[in-house]
Amino acid sequence: MDELVGISASPGIAIGTAFLYLDDNPRVPRYSVSREDVSRESRRFHEAIGKARSEIQQLKERQNTTHSADQLQFLDSHLLMLSDAEFVESIDRKLATEYLNVEWVLFSTMKGLIAKLDGAEDSYLRERVADIHDVSKRVLNHLMLRERISLADLQQEVVLVTHDLLPSDAVSMNKHMVKGIAMDAGGRTSHTAILARSFEIPAVLGLSNITRQASLGDRIIVDGNRGKVLLRPDRKTEKRYLLVQQEWRKREVRLMGLNELPAETRDGKLISLKANIEVSEEVDSIAAHGADGIGLYRSEFLFLRAEGAPSEEEQYRAYRSVLEALGEKPVTIRTLDIGGDKFLPGESENRERNPILGWRAVRFCLSHPRVFITQLRALLRASVHGNLRIMFPMISGIEELNQVTAVLEQVEAELREEGVPFREGIPVGTMIEIPSAALTSDILAKKSDFFSIGTNDLIQYTIAVDRGNERIAYLYEPFHPGVLRLVKTVIENAHAVGISAGMCGEMAGDPLATLILLGLGLDEFSMSASGIPEIKRIIRSVSMSEAEELVGTVLEMKSFQEVDSFVRNVMEKRFDVQIYS
Ligand code: PEP
Ligand code: MG
Repeated sequence: MDELVGISASPGIAIGTAFLYLDDNPRVPRYSVSREDVSRESRRFHEAIGKARSEIQQLKERQNTTHSADQLQFLDSHLLMLSDAEFVESIDRKLATEYLNVEWVLFSTMKGLIAKLDGAEDSYLRERVADIHDVSKRVLNHLMLRERISLADLQQEVVLVTHDLLPSDAVSMNKHMVKGIAMDAGGRTSHTAILARSFEIPAVLGLSNITRQASLGDRIIVDGNRGKVLLRPDRKTEKRYLLVQQEWRKREVRLMGLNELPAETRDGKLISLKANIEVSEEVDSIAAHGADGIGLYRSEFLFLRAEGAPSEEEQYRAYRSVLEALGEKPVTIRTLDIGGDKFLPGESENRERNPILGWRAVRFCLSHPRVFITQLRALLRASVHGNLRIMFPMISGIEELNQVTAVLEQVEAELREEGVPFREGIPVGTMIEIPSAALTSDILAKKSDFFSIGTNDLIQYTIAVDRGNERIAYLYEPFHPGVLRLVKTVIENAHAVGISAGMCGEMAGDPLATLILLGLGLDEFSMSASGIPEIKRIIRSVSMSEAEELVGTVLEMKSFQEVDSFVRNVMEKRFDVQIYS
């Protein structure tokens, strides 16, 4: 048995069989072939195309019942590409003249095509890059006898072991079959960790080299509570963990007993506890965990799919379904936050030297007005179906806030002119997740209906520590005095003009931080739905004066270590908070 220690990213215990999801970019061999072998290479190519075609056909049939015609359209275009005479002939021609193996010929042709399309003016042509990539990879996998592994097609319960997982892979995987995740890379607030928590899949990240230590089919235990993974456990350990798993589940059920009760402190301050969601399927879990609404709907996950960006109509339907499901409860939809660690399919993360500080969120939207306007139109149209709040991510200062507000007003004017109904006076909020925004939050507050503090990024940018990098995860500290001072400033500036201060970063769902945030005056906590009952339990067992007193002590402290050990001690003893990391 091997025990590995990583970062506890999503709580719970998973016991099962390891499934290695490895590098999706195989090394493509290149070798010369003789003139006599050309026909053999061509035959291999045609056979691989045939296999890829029937694979797509099967996929189409399987997804016919669960996906709309629009969503399946991309599979049709893949089939068309595989039957395209020009494409097939061009490969045969190269085989006959270059005397190279077919894998290499296909791979280099694909690269050439992608390079050409990537630079095209026409956005339709640029969007075809992802299709070419996908289709060629499918054929290559057959040529290289690699089974195409798609996490969406998993049919057996597994514990996923992987080096890294793109948010787009995580969102499309078959969540019912993935019982646990163990990953070499990643930090607690990487988007993969956030998704694992949302889907309630126990996960340990930042394990460095589990992919080299585990083999397909190994028994494996993922202890998401303590950030540990046990590989090939002995019988006794597995039995012990089965009991731990049962205890954990019982505790979850007990906490659900609080669902109907308000999150109210002993001295009567009512706190709003909302849920963060990434995909609309999560709405069921909102009611199940007693959330007061949605504090953050990460709309970019609608865009992270192989079919490309959703149309206005598709977005309208997605937003509408969430708004209708929530009735009069507020639904805060954040406009597209693409970039950073979330890339549109086909976009390479190497395009920018420093994507975390790059073309992200509103920066991307302001330079892609069509994308932005389409989303705002869909949001406004959907607003008549519920209680919508719109929120802008990654605002760095008043100029950006003015710019995005102007686009929103322009879209409102357009809809009025077209006679399209939308709800007037939709609250529009600003995410505070960049230090410059926190420091100028007095200015931003005057132009915002509410604030939501995005601590995942705020911590990353304040301490200059990449939130997804496991090597420096030890520096990623919510209790850093620098972070606490910024959070305090933001809440005070919000209250000074009478707007509410919320938080939708992971710190809001961290039981260790609850008392501090309460004492600082936070009005709204938004987190993965499954985290709500525990936070509610703490809020209900404390008074504001107790929380304020604790904050007074904490703000005098000079280092995060000091704050951390003090808070752990209090929370463990006084509130029986189970300390996991
Ligand atoms: C944050 O930064 O805290 C946040 C909620 O946004 P995201 O995690 O999607 O960057
Ligand atoms: Mg953020």
